[in-house]
Amino acid sequence: MDDFKYIVDKFADIKVVRYRVDGFDKLNLNEKLYIYYLNEASMCGRDIIWAQRNKDNLMIRKTLENVIKTCTLDKNSSNYKKFIEYCKRFFFSIGFMHHYNDTKFYPEISRKYFYELLSHSEIDFDINDVIELIYSKNSDYGDILKCSVNDFYEGVSEKEAKDFYHKLYEESFNKNLSFGLNTKLINYKGKLKEKTYCLNGLYGSCIAKIVSNLEKACLYASSDDERESIELLIQFYKTGDLELWDQYCIKWLGLVSSKIDYINGFIEVYNDPIGIKGSYEGIVELIDENKSEITRIIAENALWFEENSPTDKKFKKKKITGVSANVVNVTMLAGDSYPSAPIGINLPNSMWIREKYGSKSVSIANLTEAVDYSILEEVNSSFDEFSYDKNDIELKKKYDIIASDIHTHLHECLGHASGSLSKGIRGVELHEYQSAIEETRAELFALYFLMDDKLIDLGIIDNKEIAKVFYESYIRGGLQVQLVRLKLGEDVVQAHMQARKLISTLAYEMGMSDNVIEKKIKDNKTYFVVNDYDKLREIFGALLKEVQRVVSEGDYNKARELIENYAVKVDLDLHKETLERYNKLGLKPYSGYVNPDYRLIIKNDDIIDVKVEYIDDFLKQQIDYGEYYSFLK
Ligand SMILES: [Zn+2]
Repeated sequence: MDDFKYIVDKFADIKVVRYRVDGFDKLNLNEKLYIYYLNEASMCGRDIIWAQRNKDNLMIRKTLENVIKTCTLDKNSSNYKKFIEYCKRFFFSIGFMHHYNDTKFYPEISRKYFYELLSHSEIDFDINDVIELIYSKNSDYGDILKCSVNDFYEGVSEKEAKDFYHKLYEESFNKNLSFGLNTKLINYKGKLKEKTYCLNGLYGSCIAKIVSNLEKACLYASSDDERESIELLIQFYKTGDLELWDQYCIKWLGLVSSKIDYINGFIEVYNDPIGIKGSYEGIVELIDENKSEITRIIAENALWFEENSPTDKKFKKKKITGVSANVVNVTMLAGDSYPSAPIGINLPNSMWIREKYGSKSVSIANLTEAVDYSILEEVNSSFDEFSYDKNDIELKKKYDIIASDIHTHLHECLGHASGSLSKGIRGVELHEYQSAIEETRAELFALYFLMDDKLIDLGIIDNKEIAKVFYESYIRGGLQVQLVRLKLGEDVVQAHMQARKLISTLAYEMGMSDNVIEKKIKDNKTYFVVNDYDKLREIFGALLKEVQRVVSEGDYNKARELIENYAVKVDLDLHKETLERYNKLGLKPYSGYVNPDYRLIIKNDDIIDVKVEYIDDFLKQQIDYGEYYSFLK
């Protein structure tokens, strides 16, 4: 395994890597089968995320799959290769909108050639319709729901949707429910109506497959809690009842001693412009006992961090309930978490459950490792290019990796779980700015404590140089390096990127008089250097205090001001220079993953083992998934 190659493909601005599932082979057969069926359940919802992302997505995807399988034109031509590149981008982004910055991308071949391709293939749809969808320009103007490419709403304006859910909330006996999380809101003959995602409702044919695999997983659960949790999830999928969803989340939250865990359902609301609709997601995880030692220490001390954070006393949690944190290795990524995936997750999202029962967070070690090791397979490094001080650079790179792991733990396990809301605030008041401000809050919490003596006392880091290296690379990232993810002239729109931009820009500005962060020019190249780490930490603290207030009080105007003034706009000259320097390195700014395959080994009609096979062909995996897991028309 030592010659394991991580990078399996590179195209456009994307690098695809594979991850290892160390530890799987040592599990017993029951555990392996539990994972196997949870994996299958996750994969069976694949078409749901495709349908949610765009109403025509499945039609286009199936057409592209068929061209790849049946086209009779020359497959060695440069045009065909460009077509394949388009397909890879399309599969990677779950549609024609860039997976991260939500702008539409187009094939680098003419419509005429595209038409040729389709007419020389076995296609089930109208060729002109498909081509029009691929090449048409999206309208960016108008109501944010009506021009949204997602399929969460149909014929409904932003105001109508917000009013609808406000009324539902007002009229409901149980005000805690996540109204609208698992439905599509449509305008049916002038009346607003919800279509529920459930067994006999929308996406029912996928849900039936998810349920049948969850039922099989139940047979191999290793405790009553594991089984009961899955049974609640099955009931939720069958009925679409949000009360059951909350019950399930509470039960799932209590699964803290399980070796195997999973995320499955309609979870994150980032894809909905107004943050109501949950995207389908499925992840299966194997807990890494050794690596979880650090996160456990952090979680056990959560109250100390809360009490010692620079936030206003009235916005602090009085006690910390049920915060648990693990380091895991994923065995399967699916739905909205594939091929692009998060490296840390904190759930459930429901505010009342978090306050009353706590939250569970995970940092995903094998994904982080895959990307870290893939960097070593590259000739050049952006760390080298953009850091001003090249002394001890190998040591700094090592520190940067250690620190970013710890930063992720602090962000997920403490940051998102910290703070409390003022009375009457539900945590949705910041609307379109909620996600970015929430990420900012968690980032600041992590940054502030990364350089705290407490981390050394707890034995989490052994010196402050580690934190300093990270501060430097964080600021560099937020002000400069992350711009490589944008095309020249584009704004920053993604929540996590906005958070980094907001924090670094404000820190730069606030520390200007003391020269805390300095912009230096050497050989016509721009660098950002931190001169005073302690002052920078103070600035992070002051920012955290204010951002916590904004969240706690639901201060929409301040949230808008922060985001619009500091998180969106990019300095054009700096952007241009950064792109030129980066493009010479031959690197890709985004990464995603291929999953391993899992194969049942059968002997005399009995399953005797489950084998992991590492896949090294991204396109083939997409085509295979299209064959095995396609349940929607
Ligand atoms: Zn976060």
